[in-house]
Amino acid sequence: MPTAFIVDPFEILDTGKQTVLKKRLETHFADIATMGHTPLFKVQIISGAARLGPDGDPTASDVIVYISPDEYSILRDFGDGERGMVPFYPKRDGLETGGRGLLAEGDKRAAASEIFQSSIADLNYAAAAIVHEAFHNRLFLDNGMHKHGGIEDNVNSATRVSAANARHWAAAAKNPVVQWKEGQKTALARKARRDHGDKHWFW
Ligand SMILES: [Zn+2]
Repeated sequence: MPTAFIVDPFEILDTGKQTVLKKRLETHFADIATMGHTPLFKVQIISGAARLGPDGDPTASDVIVYISPDEYSILRDFGDGERGMVPFYPKRDGLETGGRGLLAEGDKRAAASEIFQSSIADLNYAAAAIVHEAFHNRLFLDNGMHKHGGIEDNVNSATRVSAANARHWAAAAKNPVVQWKEGQKTALARKARRDHGDKHWFW
């Protein structure tokens, strides 16, 4: 079963928020599956140092969305030289979406996605923002995606997946996008610096 991995190395979500957010996300992914006639994505929240992908590492059929503290973008380490993926397109969505994604083209299509801590204050909004960033990732589209409306446009706490959004997701499901898995490790190293009192942990 394809999986949406919500990776939270900084443990920004407590267990209560995890439960609510997971439920909201499951609603969006059920809408996608039903209206798009496409396999249902399972939702898995990976907190702290919990192993990413205990059922097998995320593959190019899955999607990862990181949750970053407001002062530090987990995606800053994506696309370093050894990956050989150029060019990539840094895109930071507006305040309405509170998220960010990076796409890398080259020998393989790869993407990384995150939303920021401030988006978590409203969990309905957070769920919509996560699904929005997941769309950028799976459809491999930058800001040009926003013209499609629904959850592909700027979202608010009431935004739902439209039938057109679901069809776009289903079409994209046939095209794998390599997921950036290393963000958990680099974020945990940053968190350790923070927890040991390093004032420059996010620089
Ligand atoms: Zn966007």
